Amino acid sequence: MAQYLPPLRDMQFVLHEVLGAVERLQQLPAHAELSRELADQVLEEGGKFCSEVLFPLNRSGDEEGCTYAGDGVVRTPAGFRQAWEQFKAGGWPTLTCSPEYGGQGLPHTVGMAFQEMMNSANQAWTMYPGLTHGAYDCLKAHGTPEQQALYLPRLVSGEWMGTMCLTEPHCGTDLGMLRSKAEPNPDGSWAITGTKIFISSGEHDLSENIIHLVLARLPDAPAGTRGISLFVVPKVLPKPDGSLGERNGIVCGRIEEKMGIHGNATCEMNLIGATGWLVGEPNKGLNAMFVMMNAARIGVGLQSLGLMEVAYQNSAAYAKDRLQSRALTGPKAPERPADPIIVHPDVRRMLFTQRAYAEGARCFAYWLALQADVAESDPDEDERRAAGDLLSLLTPVVKAFLTDNGFLATNLALQVYGGHGYIREWGMEQYVRDARINMIYEGTNTIQSLDLLGRKVLGDNGAKLRAFGEQVKAFVEEEGTDEDMAEFVNPLAELGDKLTKLTMELGMKAMGNADEAGAAAVDYLRVVGHLVMSYFWAKMAKVALAKVQEGGAAAEPFYVAKLATARFYFAKLQPETAGLIRSARSGSKSLMELDAALF
Ligand SMILES: Cc1cc2nc3c(=O)[nH]c(=O)nc-3n(C[C@H](O)[C@H](O)[C@H](O)COP(=O)(O)OP(=O)(O)OC[C@H]3O[C@@H](n4cnc5c(N)ncnc54)[C@H](O)[C@@H]3O)c2cc1C
Repeated sequence: MAQYLPPLRDMQFVLHEVLGAVERLQQLPAHAELSRELADQVLEEGGKFCSEVLFPLNRSGDEEGCTYAGDGVVRTPAGFRQAWEQFKAGGWPTLTCSPEYGGQGLPHTVGMAFQEMMNSANQAWTMYPGLTHGAYDCLKAHGTPEQQALYLPRLVSGEWMGTMCLTEPHCGTDLGMLRSKAEPNPDGSWAITGTKIFISSGEHDLSENIIHLVLARLPDAPAGTRGISLFVVPKVLPKPDGSLGERNGIVCGRIEEKMGIHGNATCEMNLIGATGWLVGEPNKGLNAMFVMMNAARIGVGLQSLGLMEVAYQNSAAYAKDRLQSRALTGPKAPERPADPIIVHPDVRRMLFTQRAYAEGARCFAYWLALQADVAESDPDEDERRAAGDLLSLLTPVVKAFLTDNGFLATNLALQVYGGHGYIREWGMEQYVRDARINMIYEGTNTIQSLDLLGRKVLGDNGAKLRAFGEQVKAFVEEEGTDEDMAEFVNPLAELGDKLTKLTMELGMKAMGNADEAGAAAVDYLRVVGHLVMSYFWAKMAKVALAKVQEGGAAAEPFYVAKLATARFYFAKLQPETAGLIRSARSGSKSLMELDAALF
């Protein structure tokens, strides 16, 4: 049976010792009152909720799954509803929402750390509030004042919940092919007809109302993505005072049987002249929906961070306990019939890989959350723009790099258990199954890589990437003279130079043949991911090294382990970039030459 301990010490290390997050947040008027104590207290309490309420439902939720008897009501697994009631009673849905709508107004940085723990504890359950928060973000940015007054306080309190309805049977990635249509009603609302599939949390028994954000076409809409509009479509039509009126024409047709996240209902939603109201401008629905999609992309990265952490914790404990064979260098536990498997170099590789990816991801994700806070509320426009650019550049990276690593890391956790990992009892195979979807939804990782290379990097002639590069360079210059930091700083600086060259080369090639970008994009994103990881691992190593060098009480085992993990990352994981760069540079010919008929 798996266990989960909220990694509060590491969260504090990242937030306080590496990022100086609270000090930066205090410079923002919205968070001037924040203190380390408050942030720590919220995370400690949040951690208790996750480990005591959500985690015990993870396995049972996976085994029972959601059920649908065809009566329009989807039943979530036992305990899910009670956990939702406790979540609401604790005020957790309100954490980062605006006080204007009943929220507590805490920064995203704290909210995302909490989200990580929720995902470690129970990814399937966490998707319900995750989508609700996305709907809140979208309506807050693009809703009319009336829509905001009606929906936002209820989404914030958790009384109502939300979804995002984009996908249709014939269109997933290519939303330009979307067919759902909206016809005008005499009262200014719209009647929406169409079929949406794979809608997470589309129907369930957690709340009395579900607020769907639906993409559809107006009658005169231009073809393609320029003709898509966004609508708010409640499951139950609210009366003007917010009380519930008639059932709307949006109903669940079926739920999917799927590989993982069984506790989250994945629904086919049929819209049969459902009443909806336009959100934002006509035909600009995709822009409005991007608010929700971007937040969700970061949220998906956090799902994998959560899974990596919990899988690591369990596989590390198992490796210290499981006795098998003797160490190659001679017995390490001669009094026992065999050594614990943690003596074997390859078992250590598997543990370190998980740990390096999880802890590196934590630093990256929290830093990105900090950029979101700065972009949202720094009084200085230049600061807001600079943070917004970094957020935009690195959103596809946090989504794809963390979720690719999440699948890799959970697989390694399973492998540490040998055959026991493959059977259900230990809980590891669930993490692998749950982690797999994160590479697919919210735009597949291929699409993230095309977004990064095509739009975010080549689309602005590398300006945003250069801005991140400047931060890396400043760190390298600052630390470059410290010999003890050379093992971290040198590979970081080298990778930065190689990435600059690779970007220029791909930019030139892509001008002649767009397939060159398509062929290189996935490798390219992984190289950028490693640059980001290298930067944060070098920063973490700097703090840990200082403590270890100080010695005595300062050199806590925590810092010793951090330093060892940093060394492992640079010695064993970062060198992967050499092969990735070689592959990215090899061009599209080997992929595109063969006639499709010969596959
Ligand atoms: C469990 C689950 C939950 C989901 N939740 C939601 C939800 O809440 N709301 C919602 O709207 N949708 C949801 N989805 C849908 C999800 O976002 C889509 O499945 C995903 O975007 C991919 O679309 P698709 O499945 O149609 O694959 P396709 O678009 O058909 O893609 C198939 C393959 O082709 C590749 N491909 C496609 N186009 C390109 C291209 N231009 N260049 C290179 N490769 C390309 C893809 O990367 C992929 O590997 C969910 C899906 C699942 C399975």
